Parts: sequence; C-alpha cells; structure tokens
Amino acid sequence: MEDRGSLYVVSAPSGTGKTTLAQALVKRVPCLELSRSYTSRPPRSNEVDGVDYNFISRDTFEALRVAGEFLEWADVFGHLYGTRASDTQLTLSRGVDLVLVIDVQGAGQLRCSGDGVITIFVLPPSLEELYSRLRRRSGSELTKVELECRLTAARQEIKSFGDYHYVVVNDDLEECIDRLRCIILAERLSQRAVGSRVKAITETFREQG
Ligand code: 5GP
Repeated sequence: MEDRGSLYVVSAPSGTGKTTLAQALVKRVPCLELSRSYTSRPPRSNEVDGVDYNFISRDTFEALRVAGEFLEWADVFGHLYGTRASDTQLTLSRGVDLVLVIDVQGAGQLRCSGDGVITIFVLPPSLEELYSRLRRRSGSELTKVELECRLTAARQEIKSFGDYHYVVVNDDLEECIDRLRCIILAERLSQRAVGSRVKAITETFREQG
C-alpha cells in the first residue's frame, strides 16, 4: 500500500509572493502538488477557472460549506475561499504531498483539526517592501481601497507568524524557494513521516522467536 501524503500549509500576507513561491516549489520537489481552492471571488483578467481557482458562485459555496465539503474555509477580503476535503483526500491517498496556500484563519482551522499539518509562514522583508510590491501590483489588479485593506490585513496576519512551524523571509525568490524545498525534504525524513519502506527495513532486523 502507498504511504499517505502530508499536508503543507503556506500563509503569507497578500503581496509576499506566496503563489509564485508555491508554484515554483511544486515544480522542484517531486511528489508535491498545489491544492486548488474554491472561491466566490470573480476571476481576475489573467486567471483561468479550474487552473488558478475553482470559481463558483456564493450560493454554491454556501451549499458546499453547509454540506461539510470544506476541510477549511474563510472569508477573506469579503470573498469566500475554501479547500475541498474530497480533493485533498484524493491527492493524499495517492501518496502525494499537497501544498495549501491559504490565509491564517484557514491555517488555524487545520491546526485545530489535529491532522498533523506542517505550517509555514512567509514574511516579506519589511513593511516598506510589501507596500511597494502591492503598489506595483495595484496598477493592474488592486484599487487604492483594496491596497489599503491588504496592508491593514497584513499587519493583522503577521501577528500569527508565531503559530507556524516554520518562518521564511522572501527577500530573494530563489533562496526562498530553496528554503521551502529544504523544509519539505527534511519533513519527509522526520519520524512523523516514517513510511512503509523504513518499517519494512526495521522489520527485517527484529529478533525472531
Ligand atoms: P487572492 O484573492 O488574492 O487570490 O487570495 C486572497 C487570500 O485568500 C490569500 O491570502 C490566499 O492565500 C487566501 N486563500 C486562497 N485560497 C484559500 C482557501 O482555500 N482557504 C483559505 N482559508 N484562504 C485561501
């Protein structure tokens, strides 16, 4: 039987580059996939349904939520976001690890569920840098009000960094991807993740009779 995969949660304030990091990470680490969330937010011009998110109506989201379909969910910036339990189970049961790029509320729900998720918080190098990254993005994607809202949210979210297993600073994209890669490779060797291969080896050393 295949060993079950592990869940990795990555949270970071908007503008920290978490999506770029997670997309690069899954390309560099074998047996690691990116979870695709469901959201009631309308797609941005560069986003594709079924690729960036599963875009659904608020009513459909609510129906799924009431039916208990979400492993975790949250209201972020007035839109609903969630991770569907059945999608997650399917991937983990194939022995593949999964990265969830979700907000601090969702991370908190998974932590409380006691399912042994590994949590990583990505910090921007400074408030100034986050502000200028958001401003660069704001031309195409964010209104001024949205930008201010995201900065306020960032101050709130960063208060939660101490609840995460790992904290990495995204000061250099390549180095940050490598730090995330190292976390996953090390976690795969931890006692928590001991798999059937190790069990089979140690079994051969067991004294007979
Ligand atoms: P955006 O709309 O900019 O893509 O995402 C806004 C926020 O929602 C980000 O912090 C992102 O990580 C978070 N988010 C995306 N998908 C999920 C999800 O499935 N669950 C939760 N809790 N947050 C999510």
